[in-house]
Amino acid sequence: MTRFFAVLLCLVNCAAAHAAERRPNILVIVADDLGYSDVGFQGARDIPTPHLDRLAASGIRCTDGYVSYPVCSPSRAGLITGRYQQRFGYEFNPKWDATAATHGLPLSEATLADSLRSAGYTTGAIGKWHLGAHPQFHPNRRGFDDFFGFLGGGHRYLPGSAVEVEIGAGKKAASSGDAEHTSPLLRNSTEVPEVGELTTRLGEEATASITRYAKDPKPWFLYLAFNAPHTPMQARADQLARFASITDERRRTYAAMVATVDEAVGRILGALDATGQRERTLIFFISDNGGPMTKRNANASVNSPLRGQKGDVFEGGIRVPFIVAWPARIPAGRTYSQPVIALDILPTALAAAGATRDAKLAALDGVDLLPFLTGKNTAAPHPRLFWRMDAGEAFAVREGNWKWLRTYQNAPQLYDLSADLGETRDLASSRPEIAERLAAAAAEWNHGLIAPSFGNNPFGGLINRTGLEKPSTLESNVK
Ligand code: CA
Repeated sequence: MTRFFAVLLCLVNCAAAHAAERRPNILVIVADDLGYSDVGFQGARDIPTPHLDRLAASGIRCTDGYVSYPVCSPSRAGLITGRYQQRFGYEFNPKWDATAATHGLPLSEATLADSLRSAGYTTGAIGKWHLGAHPQFHPNRRGFDDFFGFLGGGHRYLPGSAVEVEIGAGKKAASSGDAEHTSPLLRNSTEVPEVGELTTRLGEEATASITRYAKDPKPWFLYLAFNAPHTPMQARADQLARFASITDERRRTYAAMVATVDEAVGRILGALDATGQRERTLIFFISDNGGPMTKRNANASVNSPLRGQKGDVFEGGIRVPFIVAWPARIPAGRTYSQPVIALDILPTALAAAGATRDAKLAALDGVDLLPFLTGKNTAAPHPRLFWRMDAGEAFAVREGNWKWLRTYQNAPQLYDLSADLGETRDLASSRPEIAERLAAAAAEWNHGLIAPSFGNNPFGGLINRTGLEKPSTLESNVK
């Protein structure tokens, strides 16, 4: 009898252990200001990215993968909550100011890390935070057990280097003492010295975390947010030397920065393989917005064949390289062409983990992509996707292959992306019924949003440049 119970106990324990073992690790890798076509799996010719290509080949490349905002911080706020960030007033980059208690991810929101930690995951954030510099927004207070990185929106790559920060196209601020880009690196809240090139270091920190976490039976979630290839344009000398044949200096440096991200991803994949975790790790790779080609912080990125760039609601601002890989569950070597968005990362990760979402995340905008990526559900994950930027200065809607948008004081535009990916032939006047339907959908969606809670845009705060639409009357711009 004792033996019977011992066997029974073993069966129960073994089943529990097996179930726990089956819970995947979650790895979210974010690149910063990476152009749509600047990695091999997106067609780049001058920047080899063999490791990212290998990652893409091990899973699904989403051709129509979007972010919820065309600049850094609001995009990240959407990713980490699974909600359109304008629902909670997050529509601008926050100030670099540790006393700014409203400039960051509101405490009314919960992060993906909050939910996964509650579900028993070890949680780590590495790299660029950019969700608020006030202590209340620190990653350790937003669900992350471990943090290594910096709290601002960017950082120099080479220790001790002067940073040249651009304040507009062609205009540069003398900023060798720029506080944000030279802020201390932090391990949790402890300042640590800058040693070596930053992207390389972030990759090393990630591989060390993955190796350390592998020794613990708990599954883990790692949010790895590179600031590369965002400005300042700095790279390791050996990487620059690899691209000596690129004559444009900015493009050469950019190529070296992207290649360094790729090298770091290669080491991370190697660490996953070496610790036997690759099969059971769900990996996302995205850029936080499109490449800035000619505007502020231009980095010589390329978004072709898309129109526009970072800061635009044209495709070049919001459509990004987008990989989802999970060898144990998701087919390898495929592409998926229905529109998906970074807001989907949270519900997909929680579903994969079997985790319950935090009560603060009652209304999600993202959806679990697993049934779609595995082919169980052949419908579109989203009937429509929406964008609003700069307190309602610009709106966009994607419905099927239709893309409607309105920017600033310009007339609404309508494009058929299936025939016109570059958004060059405006069909608003020839297909008014579609333009009107999508405008009405944007107006309805807009009712669920609030005015921005903080503003730090280069045009002077919350009030837009036109002066026509105030945050309290945002509806006026979607008509
Ligand atoms: Ca960015």
